[in-house]
Amino acid sequence: MTKQEFEKQLISWRHELHRFPEAAFEEKRTSAFIAEELRKMGITVTTGIGKTGVVGTLKCGDGDRCIAIRSDMDSLKIDEKSTHDHVSEHPGRMHACGHDGHITTLLGAALLISQAKDFNGTVHFIFQPAEEPGTGASAMIADGLFDRFRIDEIYGLHNAPFLPAGRVRTRPGGLAASEDDFTINITGKGGHASSPHEGVDPFACFAEMYMAFQTIVSRNARPAHPVVISCTEIETDGAHNAIPTHVTVKGDTRCYFPEDQELVETRMRKIAESVCEMNGAKCEFEYTHEFRPVVNDAVCVDRLVNAAAAIVGKDNVEADGEQWTVSEDFAMYLDHVPGCFFLLGSGRYEGDKSLHDNTFDYNDDVLVTGAEIWHELVKQRLQ
Ligand SMILES: [Zn+2]
Ligand SMILES: [Zn+2]
Repeated sequence: MTKQEFEKQLISWRHELHRFPEAAFEEKRTSAFIAEELRKMGITVTTGIGKTGVVGTLKCGDGDRCIAIRSDMDSLKIDEKSTHDHVSEHPGRMHACGHDGHITTLLGAALLISQAKDFNGTVHFIFQPAEEPGTGASAMIADGLFDRFRIDEIYGLHNAPFLPAGRVRTRPGGLAASEDDFTINITGKGGHASSPHEGVDPFACFAEMYMAFQTIVSRNARPAHPVVISCTEIETDGAHNAIPTHVTVKGDTRCYFPEDQELVETRMRKIAESVCEMNGAKCEFEYTHEFRPVVNDAVCVDRLVNAAAAIVGKDNVEADGEQWTVSEDFAMYLDHVPGCFFLLGSGRYEGDKSLHDNTFDYNDDVLVTGAEIWHELVKQRLQ
């Protein structure tokens, strides 16, 4: 297969996947498509892991080391507004995050690796459901991923339209952020807007805690550790001329170190409860962990950087790049085995459409690049 034929194959897979997007845990057609293509390559396929997850396993030689490469496969639940010839045929579903491109890249890698057979050991190609809600990786792990397959190290990528096409960015430590959600219910005593002295104003409590939360960022977190705390929603039962009794505040927080997740939760709770107590209001504080931060292993980062540099050139690889503020459930695998997640630049021009835009379309120009990086990594790691 020439390079042109290979690229043509990848583009045809990607457009087919783009036409039939499926959201979290609905990926039946997608996983059947993947399983069929893997089988054609002579790869052993295990389906139904974590509901719709697929694992392809390829052994070569007598080496006992095993590495895994992971792609997500779910779409978003949005209506596509594009006009190209491979627009979504599933209403309310769209590959707006480029997971169609990630699947294709990993299938392309599987094709290259299965044809070349230039490694000694085992490669597991993991196709994971439900990355968007952050529950797919844990579903596969709960279904015995690490018991059923020996995995010594794991790698994954996400396309990055905000980086020039072909650029690779990763970093040791926290690359993608955690996401935790909070809800604070403040109960005061409402009444006539003209007579605040007769009640307990929950708005005054919220105003105090709103500013105090930012001192967690500036006074409690280490200056070298980025933390974001955003209050994003507020509901009250007040009126133009009535002080409310109830104020509910919602929002989310992001950080890059698991210990900062604990710090933010503890400090926010203390601030919310103390401010309410000080003002004579009641406070209910709820905090849930949605995504853990993606914490890369420094040794695996070096390995990925070496493989990527062989394909895109040293100057195109940021080995200690800026953090990515988005969350990724690849983090769950890194609780079990060391690994590295990286961003593959896919921007066609400065200010290219962002992920989750309803006209987003994966940049086909980086499909081969991604597949070649995975192939090179396998070659280098399993000699
Ligand atoms: Zn997304
Ligand atoms: Zn995504």
